[in-house]
Amino acid sequence: MTVSGTREAPADGNTGVDREVTEVRRFWTRLGLPGLVDVHTHFMPERVLRKVWAYFDAVGSVDDGDGGDEGVEWPITYRLEEDERLALIREFGVRAFTAMLYPHKAGMAQWLNQWATDFAGRTPDCLHTSTLFPEPGVEAYVREAVESGARVFKAHVQVGAYDPADELLDPAWGLLAEAGTPVVIHCGSGPAPGKHTGPEPIGRVLARHPRLRLVVAHMGLPEYGDFLGLAERYDEVWLDTTMAFTDFAERMAPFPRPELPRLADLGDRVLLGSDFPNIPYPYVHQLHALERLGLGDDWLRAVCHDNGARLFGLADTDEKGLTAM
Ligand SMILES: [Zn+2]
Repeated sequence: MTVSGTREAPADGNTGVDREVTEVRRFWTRLGLPGLVDVHTHFMPERVLRKVWAYFDAVGSVDDGDGGDEGVEWPITYRLEEDERLALIREFGVRAFTAMLYPHKAGMAQWLNQWATDFAGRTPDCLHTSTLFPEPGVEAYVREAVESGARVFKAHVQVGAYDPADELLDPAWGLLAEAGTPVVIHCGSGPAPGKHTGPEPIGRVLARHPRLRLVVAHMGLPEYGDFLGLAERYDEVWLDTTMAFTDFAERMAPFPRPELPRLADLGDRVLLGSDFPNIPYPYVHQLHALERLGLGDDWLRAVCHDNGARLFGLADTDEKGLTAM
């Protein structure tokens, strides 16, 4: 085990990290999977990531939506150096993951995309990720990213504070729909709502681009039912599990139990996402949170590996255990 976290070693001499690696691997081994595919992990330029961590350190003051003004603590579990984070996610057995990154203002996306291209080049198990923003030139740099091998895009409606149906984005959505490149989009109103979050603005995008391959992050929490509805209506709308069903999310925005049958029916378009490393609990908790939904092992196999492998055209298994076809 090459990862040295800041967590304490328990009395039996195994570090907490070692124990967690064992638990994660036990989860997918029991299911007979070759590993996990995690569509929602964050790798980004170091100084951007530090800012994200500083944000979460400060969100002791996030409104948890119950009308009170108490904060929600958001301790980052995996505050490690990049090489340590990569070593750990590989030890977990994540065969393919992403580098979700996103601009909060104009003029930043291209720089992030350059970093992501370089990162993907030196990280073969990372699906080359790009991002976009409503700004002049977006169509050109999105085209360039697709042509240079981007496999997935990330968009963040709340952080970017833009309308996803903004005219400036229209040609980019059209291009991505045509290319069939998945776009992981944070468009639900949790944990914090934005002016353009919720099902309505993104619904206008889908009305114009019904073949756009959107992956709704966090199951669209807290608007779960509305986003399940979009997935039922549009064959290319997928959902990622990021943070959903965990104790943390259930306290803030509980998944409505009567919707479980719809979640079961959409089992071929739900993808494991984790938000690693920016999560306030151990990685394995996301897996256990999915397991305890009680939707069965076939559903878990699809969500935790097979759907992602299909979406990204990953090889079944190979000698190196890695991906990239
Ligand atoms: Zn995220």
